[in-house]
Amino acid sequence: MKAVLLDKPAPIEETPLRYSEYDVPKISDDEVLIKIKACGVCRSNLNVIEGVYSRLGIPSLSPIIPGHEIIGLITETGSNVKNLVTGDRVGIQPLYSACGVCEYCLSAREHLCPNRLITGETVHGGYAEYIKGKNNYVYRVPKELKDHEAAPLFCPGVTAYRAVKQANLTIGKTAAIFGIGGVGHVAVQFAKMTGASVIAVSRSKKNLELASTVGADKTIPQDDNLVQEMKKIGYVDSAIVFAPSQEAIDRAQRITKPGGTIVLGVAGDVRKLLFFFEKTIKGTAIGTRHDMKEVLKIASTNKIRIVTNTYPLQQASEVLQKLKGGEIKGRAVLIP
Ligand SMILES: [Zn+2]
Ligand SMILES: [Zn+2]
Repeated sequence: MKAVLLDKPAPIEETPLRYSEYDVPKISDDEVLIKIKACGVCRSNLNVIEGVYSRLGIPSLSPIIPGHEIIGLITETGSNVKNLVTGDRVGIQPLYSACGVCEYCLSAREHLCPNRLITGETVHGGYAEYIKGKNNYVYRVPKELKDHEAAPLFCPGVTAYRAVKQANLTIGKTAAIFGIGGVGHVAVQFAKMTGASVIAVSRSKKNLELASTVGADKTIPQDDNLVQEMKKIGYVDSAIVFAPSQEAIDRAQRITKPGGTIVLGVAGDVRKLLFFFEKTIKGTAIGTRHDMKEVLKIASTNKIRIVTNTYPLQQASEVLQKLKGGEIKGRAVLIP
């Protein structure tokens, strides 16, 4: 099969990816083989490729096929697979599999399993023509969704959904969402579904426009005037941060009301947290299998709009360079 391989991490401008022939994966009894139709391009793919994660001590296979928002058709099933058949259209999310027996797996928090495998990091991902998946970790895709629209549900979709669930939003509350890229513009839509009023915060004028078109009640530039501006409008009950910036994290803390919640979907420091304001800070990362199924159910009723642009798989390297340069609106999706 054709695949995009990373032998050794390096800045994307140095073109560390190679498009070449690779063996089609061989499945075991509880696995399925999937012919890939679409795979989204995520900033965390770039972190794997450029070695950001390996410097944080997160291991990766070498060589590795990146990519973790995958849609395809099942072409083969292992002898123990009873829940899926050849021809099923399915997806794979970043959580490739988990051990099934640890305290996290046994309490429906398998995304925290210490023995979890991550698609495109510790096992081969979706920048290829085929991938194999574990039968209990692939998800049927509703027929209402097109391949390229469905692929991003498997990372931005589930990530945004879980972050919004962590933010305790209900009707009458207000939320600020920092960072309106592939994940943020989906988070705006899930946050609106809770009945809360949603303020989108971004450095990019283009992305603030995107936030308005997907339903944000208000948009505010992420700059030095933000805290003053928010003081006039009124601080928020919850803030969710997807902007990879320490300033965004600091400002999110400042514009959240006492007793409020700040949800972090990016790396950074929590500084000057004044205990007497009783603010809660939570991390959020990908989602469980249950979260993933809920996202697909909601998306099947056309309630979620993901802005996508498709590119041929061979162009993975160019697309990642564009992503790094902030030139991708919504989500880029590779088609093998
Ligand atoms: Zn992702
Ligand atoms: Zn486990």
